[in-house]
Amino acid sequence: MMIRWHGGESKGFDPLSLPRCAKCGMSVKSAVGISTNGKRSAFSGVMRCGSIWACPVCSGIIRTARADEVSKMVERNASGALVFGTLTVRHHAGMPLQMLLDAVMAGWQKMVTGSPWKRMRQRYGVQGYVRATEVTYSRGNGWHPHIHFIMPLDAPLSGEEAQALRTWLIDRWRSMVMRVAKKYGDWDIRPDDAHGIDLQVKHDYKACEKAAEYITKWQADKGMAELGMEIARGDVKGGRAAGSINPFQLLDEGMLGLSDSQRDALWHEYYAATMRRRCITWSRGLRERYEVEEVEDEDLVTAEDKPEELVEYVAPRRVYERLRKTAPALLADVLEAAERCDWAFVDSVLHGVHLTDAQQDMLADGEAHMFDFLPKRE
Ligand SMILES: [Zn+2]
Repeated sequence: MMIRWHGGESKGFDPLSLPRCAKCGMSVKSAVGISTNGKRSAFSGVMRCGSIWACPVCSGIIRTARADEVSKMVERNASGALVFGTLTVRHHAGMPLQMLLDAVMAGWQKMVTGSPWKRMRQRYGVQGYVRATEVTYSRGNGWHPHIHFIMPLDAPLSGEEAQALRTWLIDRWRSMVMRVAKKYGDWDIRPDDAHGIDLQVKHDYKACEKAAEYITKWQADKGMAELGMEIARGDVKGGRAAGSINPFQLLDEGMLGLSDSQRDALWHEYYAATMRRRCITWSRGLRERYEVEEVEDEDLVTAEDKPEELVEYVAPRRVYERLRKTAPALLADVLEAAERCDWAFVDSVLHGVHLTDAQQDMLADGEAHMFDFLPKRE
């Protein structure tokens, strides 16, 4: 993937002025290692940017880890009861993403603070929440930022209680967004029945498990399925595409029938609007309650770089970097080959060294550096 900086082409390639995620995967040592457990392989000695919003590689790593954390909470919640749902605001094509995200996040912040919220929590035994922000885009409706949340409950609710809680949350969301909306007078973002709220109260374990994935992962498959249908119907070519995509799909040529410059402008808007925002957060005390340790996004991706498996293959940095810039897809092929232990293929691409068991141990014990095993250049 290539992320271009504003006006970057005319400046040429200057790694220091690139956004951090464009440096993702850049080698930081004189050699790059590959480790594998037969199911997954990874490069080590490369930099990871740690951006959940702007980097497809890091986003995948972080979201998978975050989904596991929410699963732990769901598993450990003895009552097996929870509420999960989606909140958004009314949105139309042309509305700035920055404003919509501000509105959704400010609305949520207002919703979960103050004494009405505390009273509601006591009444229904709501232990806290995990909330995740997601952004999708469609040609028909523009940016669609929304909040997914999950709230574990002390005990299952009766049908009436569930209905009452639902009504309370919907009303509260509406009135908080109305307050926020005043700031954006010209844009109508007030939620209505068709736009804004989807709420479910679940008591069975299976549904709760699904909720963990649902709130933390991009709904990419859903987007693609809808999109696939539309492409089949030819709507995209007609420019009437209503399919929604996740922002990474904006990087794919021809997506939704958008021109390169349209995709570029949208990606930059997305990049700027999401920068430094918290994507997934837990309410205070909830992690402690479920003994789910807090780990920063950056640390999750660094952990990925220190795999439990030994480094089995070492390649020279210059070969790796040349491929990263000219043929990044080949690097993905290399990882797949490593999973199959097809070291001959890896060799043909990276021109490195498959380490002996003794050499792998030396690396793991810190008795050697990766570049020690590479043939010396004249
Ligand atoms: Zn990254």
